[in-house]
Amino acid sequence: MEHFTRRTWLEIDLDAVRHNVAQIRSRIGGRKLMAIVKADAYGHGAAVLGPFLRRCGADCFGVSNIDEAQELRAGGVEEPILILGYTPEEDYGRLVECGAAQTLYDERAARSLSAAATAAGAKIPVHIKLDTGMNRLGFATQTEDGRRAAVDVIERIVGLPGLVPEGIFTHFSVSDERGNPFTGRQYDNFTATLAALEQRGITFPLRHCDNSAAIYNLGENITNLVRPGIILYGLAPEPGDDVFAAEAQLMPAARFKSVVSHVKTVPAGDFVSYGNSVTLTRPTRVATIPVGYADGYDRLLSNRGEVLVNGCRCRILGRVCMDQMMVDATDAGEVAVGQSVTLFGTEQGTSLSVDELAQMVGTISYELLCTVGRRVPRVYF
Ligand code: PLP
Repeated sequence: MEHFTRRTWLEIDLDAVRHNVAQIRSRIGGRKLMAIVKADAYGHGAAVLGPFLRRCGADCFGVSNIDEAQELRAGGVEEPILILGYTPEEDYGRLVECGAAQTLYDERAARSLSAAATAAGAKIPVHIKLDTGMNRLGFATQTEDGRRAAVDVIERIVGLPGLVPEGIFTHFSVSDERGNPFTGRQYDNFTATLAALEQRGITFPLRHCDNSAAIYNLGENITNLVRPGIILYGLAPEPGDDVFAAEAQLMPAARFKSVVSHVKTVPAGDFVSYGNSVTLTRPTRVATIPVGYADGYDRLLSNRGEVLVNGCRCRILGRVCMDQMMVDATDAGEVAVGQSVTLFGTEQGTSLSVDELAQMVGTISYELLCTVGRRVPRVYF
């Protein structure tokens, strides 16, 4: 482990990531695996995770934008990269340079991308995005008329010079809700559109629709590539789904750590932190922890969240500050300045999951992971 400042850090267990990839592989049969590493690999650090996932056997990578694609290339990733989101026209040159594939969901953009590729004497791989019900990106396919229009547009796009139509895909909005029939409807829109395209002799080497949840919930399907994100990092798309937990057997890769920077006993009746939002009801061993909302520790966890000190759950006292917060360590035994504490993860057999914290503040693990601050060093072991 390289030197890092032992203030607040995010530990990443690469063996856990390797284990998760193996679990996914055993589930997907011969389909290809596109590792979704957008948002800095869900906060885990794409510069390390990209090359590592490559060594674990990821076939290709999915990112949100051109900056993320270039970062992966800079880290030595040579495999295909798909930009899942928007690329502004002025960045088409960078797209050509980095050889990433672009998602297409708009005819005008397809034509300018084709023109940029032709002008540069390059070939740009593209994946067509079908909107099957989420209404985010994609050619609408939800109605017969929409589907016909989408097929017409796609027929024009695949003939454009400079573009290499490599794939076609869609994205599910509720695949994490086991048994929700909407996913089946989206899937039917997807396959009906593929069939209509095939009737016109248009096929694509790659067809994909499975995010993490769909890999476990959708069952047999006609795709030949999957796009897992959250399960690579060992978390469930829908926490509390026991069937998923039993089938997937994942290992969370990230552990958020900090230390005790100060500890003292404070009398009953005193307040703690900004706003005097808590009054101590007993003499309290107050431990200060050098982590705050500037590190991505959610301020909504004020007076609610917990931290593991000596493996004991300690409640946050008062408001989370920008760089610090205080916890009630009265029941945590001996507490010393410099000792490490766990903000999420497992410590001395006690587990405090990122899902649990996410639930407390009404969000999902995805958000808490990818908002861990930039100033928090990622430490790999
Ligand atoms: N595919 C697309 C288009 C996405 O936007 C995402 C993430 O939001 C994923 C795949 C991966 O999703 P998950 O992390 O739920 O597997």
